[in-house]
Amino acid sequence: MSAQLIDGKAIAATIREEIRNEVAAMKSKHGKVPGLAAVLVGARRDSQTYVRMKKKACEEAGIASFGCDLPEDTSQEELLKVVRDLNANPDVDGILVQLPLPAHMDDEEILGAVSLEKDVDGFHPLNIGRLSMKRRDPLFVPCTPKGCIELLDRTGVTIEGKRAVVLGRSNIVGLPVAMLLLHRNATLTICHSRTQDLPGVVREAEILIAAVGRPEMVRGDWVQPGAVVIDVGVNAVDDPGSKKGYKLVGDVAFDEVKEVAAAITPVPGGVGPMTIAMLLRNTTDGAKRTLGME
Ligand code: NAP
Repeated sequence: MSAQLIDGKAIAATIREEIRNEVAAMKSKHGKVPGLAAVLVGARRDSQTYVRMKKKACEEAGIASFGCDLPEDTSQEELLKVVRDLNANPDVDGILVQLPLPAHMDDEEILGAVSLEKDVDGFHPLNIGRLSMKRRDPLFVPCTPKGCIELLDRTGVTIEGKRAVVLGRSNIVGLPVAMLLLHRNATLTICHSRTQDLPGVVREAEILIAAVGRPEMVRGDWVQPGAVVIDVGVNAVDDPGSKKGYKLVGDVAFDEVKEVAAAITPVPGGVGPMTIAMLLRNTTDGAKRTLGME
């Protein structure tokens, strides 16, 4: 392997330790700890796992977590009331509504009901709008995109002036990470399902962020020698030899690309752990802002 492995698990552990210390200092100075409410509607196994992981991470950092598990047939009005009650609860600094919501719900209305000051997922339309504009800092930046930038920064990668290619344009990953790269003065290309000559465009990248949800789509010969590759994808593929019968792979063919790239994130153990660390970061920053500590 020639590429440097960007160890998201280790970097996230460092950040979580930093947050734990900040939370302990807040507790001794202000007699308060940050609080995160996780709202889960329905019984999707993957969503339950994500929420459980987030609550455990809160506990380890000393952040209070408030669970709010609602049945699949919860109405839009009922969920709006839950969100409004959490907005009014002074012990709650951050509210996350686990996505996807059941099909009968209007995500946009729900996400728009979360108080701007508690929108730790950064999905409120106003926070996304501010993220998209020059010199309009959002109160919170979405966790996965923020985690990608933090990985680059903590690996010592210069973003300014680099050619960055973002593969994917979703509201939760591709679009916000592209905005962050642009604000950091990268020269940016965004690719999607209608992009012509995708390998040729990806090959222009000095920094590549892959967020397409297609297992190992980016091959070794798509990548420019010396590129830095951040693989956001998490895809389950059959693995009959393993206990679970499946394994997780990224959007990048790791074994091929690691021979070409200068640095690369693994899957799992790259971007995933950073998403949770950034959620703790946002919740703690929200609490600090409320206490006037910033
Ligand atoms: P998404 O909403 O499905 O968006 C996928 C994007 O990729 C779309 O913009 C789509 O283009 C584009 N795309 C799909 N197939 C393509 C193809 N063959 N060629 C070029 N572009 C293609 O997915 P997402 O929510 O952004 O998630 C992307 C991946 O990241 C998934 O594997 C997901 O599990 C993972 N993820 C990981 C984390 C983490 O914490 N590690 C967090 C969130 C997501 P169009 O817009 O043209 O349809």
